[in-house]
Amino acid sequence: MNAVNATTSIYDSTDFASLSYLEQKWAAWYIYIGNPILATGLASFLLHEIVYFGRSIPWIIIDAIPYFRRWKLQPNKIPSPQEQWECTKQVLFSHFMVELPVIWFFHPMAEMFGMRTYEVPLPTFREMLPQLAWFFFFEDLFHYLAHRALHYGPLYKHIHKLHHKYSAPFGLAAEYAHPAEVAILGLGTIGGPLIFAALNPHVLHIATVYLWITLRLFQAIDAHSGYDFPWSLNKFIPFWSGADHHDFHHMAFTNNFATSFRWWDRMLGTDTSYRSYRKKMAALKGKAKSERDAVEKALLAEVEAQGLIAEAEVVRKADGVEKVKAA
Ligand SMILES: [Zn+2]
Ligand SMILES: [Zn+2]
Repeated sequence: MNAVNATTSIYDSTDFASLSYLEQKWAAWYIYIGNPILATGLASFLLHEIVYFGRSIPWIIIDAIPYFRRWKLQPNKIPSPQEQWECTKQVLFSHFMVELPVIWFFHPMAEMFGMRTYEVPLPTFREMLPQLAWFFFFEDLFHYLAHRALHYGPLYKHIHKLHHKYSAPFGLAAEYAHPAEVAILGLGTIGGPLIFAALNPHVLHIATVYLWITLRLFQAIDAHSGYDFPWSLNKFIPFWSGADHHDFHHMAFTNNFATSFRWWDRMLGTDTSYRSYRKKMAALKGKAKSERDAVEKALLAEVEAQGLIAEAEVVRKADGVEKVKAA
């Protein structure tokens, strides 16, 4: 039996007339590709590329329009087209060199962990919601711990330093990172679905994982966008991190390690400088624009200078550790 027939036969007992448009397209994709491993691998790769660049492009446009500067968190730092291009090249390199080779294991791994892949019908939103909540919670906690570990001297110097190249990040820089970092932090994204699937065989559908990856990419890219709008999600959900939270991590270096939520940084005391900075910024409200701008500029410069000192200290410690090891 060839691959196409094998794929067609998995739908032998499926009543296509009872399926929604999306479900019919889902099955049609697996039938068209004719090989489930290839179909899942290719869909995963394309989803990632389309969402990553699709979500980054609006931020590139916003960066080019001066009107939006009023909401830029570090208004003195607009990424140049060269910087954005350099960043795109590095991101594409890791997508093709790291992610593409690994992605072919995704289908076998999903099946091994009891995830549904080609099966239709797709899950309902009601079924998806608690699973998505768990993925968000797991990723955020995993990322908080792994990210703090990545700030430890040698790990920082050799791995995470690359991601900190931009003290004022922009959307495209979300995945600007060392391949080892992409792999380590990627475990947080995929770990939640794998644990859930292993504990609940044949419940989780890969379509839910795709929706999760889409939401997670939106979260990561928006957190790196550098803009905090009056309509940003953190204005409506107070524990949502958003760009306001993560931009400060890039600027100040020592605070705000989590991704989606603010609670771990708050509970574990890694947001104290951030909160004092926010307090000082809030005190500027109502002051004359020229005064506000001058104080804001001085504050930004102070936080960034402290960040540079903190980073140099981490690298100095790493050099110390390496010297001791070499001796
Ligand atoms: Zn960091
Ligand atoms: Zn970042």
